[in-house]
Amino acid sequence: MTINLSNLTIEYAHEAMMRGDFSARELAEAYIETINEKNNDIHAYLEVYDDVLKQADDADKMIKEGKATILTGIPLALKDNILFEGKIASASSKILENYHATYSSTVVEKLKSAGAVILGRTNMDEFAMGSSTENSAYGATKNPHDISRVPGGSSGGSAAAVAMSGALFALGSDTGGSIRQPASFCGVVGLKPTYGAVSRSGLMAMGSSLDQIGPFTKTVADAEIVYQALASHDPLDSTSAPDSFRIQPSPLKKKIGIPRDFIKKEDLNPEVYENFEKAIKKFESLGYEIIDIELPRAAYSLAVYYIVMAAEVSTNLSRFDGVRYGLQIEGKNLLETYQMSRGVGFGKETRRRILLGTYVLSHGYYDAYYNKALKVQRLITLDFKKAFENVDAIITPTSPFPAFKAGEKMSDPLQMYLSDIYTVPANIAGIPAISLPHGTSNEGLPLDLQIMAPHWREDILFTIGKAFEALEK
Ligand code: GLN
Repeated sequence: MTINLSNLTIEYAHEAMMRGDFSARELAEAYIETINEKNNDIHAYLEVYDDVLKQADDADKMIKEGKATILTGIPLALKDNILFEGKIASASSKILENYHATYSSTVVEKLKSAGAVILGRTNMDEFAMGSSTENSAYGATKNPHDISRVPGGSSGGSAAAVAMSGALFALGSDTGGSIRQPASFCGVVGLKPTYGAVSRSGLMAMGSSLDQIGPFTKTVADAEIVYQALASHDPLDSTSAPDSFRIQPSPLKKKIGIPRDFIKKEDLNPEVYENFEKAIKKFESLGYEIIDIELPRAAYSLAVYYIVMAAEVSTNLSRFDGVRYGLQIEGKNLLETYQMSRGVGFGKETRRRILLGTYVLSHGYYDAYYNKALKVQRLITLDFKKAFENVDAIITPTSPFPAFKAGEKMSDPLQMYLSDIYTVPANIAGIPAISLPHGTSNEGLPLDLQIMAPHWREDILFTIGKAFEALEK
């Protein structure tokens, strides 16, 4: 039988498998066929695993034995920085080219015990640094809507995999926008959970105090399903929140905040601005009161991010020394071995951030940069707290522009960093945020909407997101 993958959702596929309309094996075969057809052009996947059909057969067995969960037999893709025991995990870096994971991340453990089928690993910016998936040591990923354009980043391969119907959902990681921005560029849903909601155990660390794993899906309901399956306390991650932190949903005020000072017409692509105004009207039609709010220090989020993230990158990546993991280029002495392995193994952007991070942490600059950034981070968090006293959620565009052309921003890192202007504040404050597809540009590119909610109120994102999405259908 042929399964139409383009509109398939987790919910629907689950019901269809339970009814016996198709098996997990047939579903996995349909995805492999699509990947074979499209991946040469899009390059979303770095590798499709050789045991996919075996995983699918195990899922069919679970279904037959009445042990199925909602994710049993559901095919997904993993960003290449999430460990799956025995499989290569390279973070799209040359330094980890042949690194095989020695254990599985907690998210993979959860997905495997739920019976999900892991199709393969997806391309990304090296060690999750970038906004276009062009910083991969294994070639760039293309945007399925227009292959002359980038899919966003750093989880561009995961976003493109879902957008090209090469996976029913995918996992990415979001440190400053790496789930939401590629979701926006590729026209899919992307969720960054509250910091501490989903275990980071087995996620290669970039900026550990900001990193979160989250899903790319076709619908908000599917994002909720994956979130529910992944979010719980994990003793293996010391920043994973205890279950008592996880607030029970409470009724909404039906008020949405707009940080007008932060969304200036002159800073935005005109189509993005107009599209955002349309979103506001839609919320009004849904009965939400729209309230202008202030986030006076949100504008400093990007500056704070590029200090805190770089500081953490420089320490986290010190473990890649050519001795403990991956690539080793032997020099005349140990120091030269370190220098040559890291010099050859890391790409340009990674080296830039290690240098930046080492600088802001160095003696004499630590207080001026790193400590100051942490203080401003605290103030930004307080701005959000105050704003959420009056509103359920805050909306902004996800990206200030639609998908840009391949190569367009590669020679100007500051332009590339500006991609994150609306996504970074949620990481700085640790709050959950979701990007939804909303509208298209004149050139037919997907546009977006970002919704942010208070800590632990993913339920608000799902409620509001579903209502908004229903208007689009
Ligand atoms: N684009 C941002 C950066 O380059 C975000 C990365 C991320 O979230 N991993 O740092």
